[in-house]
Amino acid sequence: MTRPIIFCDFDGTITETDNIISLMKTFAPPEWEAIKDDILDQTLSIKEGVSRLFSLIPSSKKEDMVQYLRDSAVIREGFEEFVDYTAKHGIPLYIVSGGLDFFVHPLLEAYGPFHGVYCNEASFNDSTISILWPHPCDEQCGSGGCGCCKPSILRTLSLSEGSKVFVIGDSVTDLEMAKLGDTVMARDFLAEKCMENGIPFIHFETFHDCKEALEKEGVVR
Ligand code: MG
Ligand code: ZN
Repeated sequence: MTRPIIFCDFDGTITETDNIISLMKTFAPPEWEAIKDDILDQTLSIKEGVSRLFSLIPSSKKEDMVQYLRDSAVIREGFEEFVDYTAKHGIPLYIVSGGLDFFVHPLLEAYGPFHGVYCNEASFNDSTISILWPHPCDEQCGSGGCGCCKPSILRTLSLSEGSKVFVIGDSVTDLEMAKLGDTVMARDFLAEKCMENGIPFIHFETFHDCKEALEKEGVVR
């Protein structure tokens, strides 16, 4: 039997909304909106845009930001059960996120352990927050500016092993890894992008839907 392996996005997928946007709304001066618009219309790469966004916030806000998200972020329904289910059946579950370590790890803390959590890193050593990029694009990624390059991670972890790759995500930043997946579970903007690109997908709203999809795919004995 082909070995299943799951790559799951974080912001807007595991959490119901995007945590970087939530932080900007609460902690950044109004200039953040113009930067966000430039990211969305692709005038700025995600990497450059996210760096600029966090440079607007003093490093001293770190604890306030973590606390704010701990209090306000909502984990999508069924996630805990889904994680337990994959663990029980020995299916590797990797979290691949364009979010930042200082909030991704605390918000996931209650659910792991995971096979791997890949995200960007924030540094609080200067007066304002700077971002480090430990998972850059490989030579095959056409973008070069992903920040945390999801298709590169997927290639490294799965393609050499002939695995059956499941991808779960919600937005355009998941599209390149969706193109590489065998089964795509999509909601929101990623679902639209999959339709535009002719990529078959299973629509999900809760992780109960994702669990059901795994069962239907027959990867669990
Ligand atoms: Mg997302
Ligand atoms: Zn890339």
